[in-house]
Amino acid sequence: MKIAIDGPSGAGKSSLARSIARKLGMIYVDTGALYRTVGLYMREHGIDPKNEAAVLASLPDIRLRMTHEAGEQHIYLCGEDVGDRIRTPDISMYASAVSAIPGVRAYLLETQRHIARENSVVMDGRDIGTVILPDAEVKIFLVATPEARARRRAEELQGKGMTTTYEEVLADMRQRDENDRTRAIAPAVPAQDAVFLDNSELEPEQTLALALTIIREKTGGV
Ligand code: C5P
Repeated sequence: MKIAIDGPSGAGKSSLARSIARKLGMIYVDTGALYRTVGLYMREHGIDPKNEAAVLASLPDIRLRMTHEAGEQHIYLCGEDVGDRIRTPDISMYASAVSAIPGVRAYLLETQRHIARENSVVMDGRDIGTVILPDAEVKIFLVATPEARARRRAEELQGKGMTTTYEEVLADMRQRDENDRTRAIAPAVPAQDAVFLDNSELEPEQTLALALTIIREKTGGV
């Protein structure tokens, strides 16, 4: 079974996808982490993430591998686990920039499809329902107001000891949303057969309960 969870940044896609995967015994795949890892490589090598030719020229050197160990996703960049190094606001902007390059999306396509062929997956991203897994049995487009999303993301980053403010997160988020929505390739838009779920006013457990109802309706019971 394949479940696609798409939507803007900070809507709670990863928490929801992780909870669904745990509940249904599926593998959770965070595709944003792949773009973040490509972004990390560019940053570490002083490559401008908007310089398409330079980014594409570096792809053969990246050596990126995604694994799932005891239910947790790990991404190895040139043999080293990237861990939380891809979770900074700076790397978010790098990820957003490289994700607009068609060659980068093509480079990451097979990694994503391969894992979905081998496993039952709950995959979160921006183009899962439209491009990566157009035949997913369930597609959810998770949304929340920019304010709700920025508040949650700021709390999450502060919880990890980062000094990012709510205002900074909100500004970054608006910028990334705009980039993701308006880019020429694989824009972050809902698939025609996606179900919208707005969780601005919901607790995580309520969002999970609604998602499970959607899954049950789409699959005829899980
Ligand atoms: O989901 P996350 O915020 O970690 O993703 C980081 C960036 O990677 C997003 O802002 C987006 O530009 C890009 N992305 C994408 N397609 C995906 C997942 C992420 O373009 N499927």
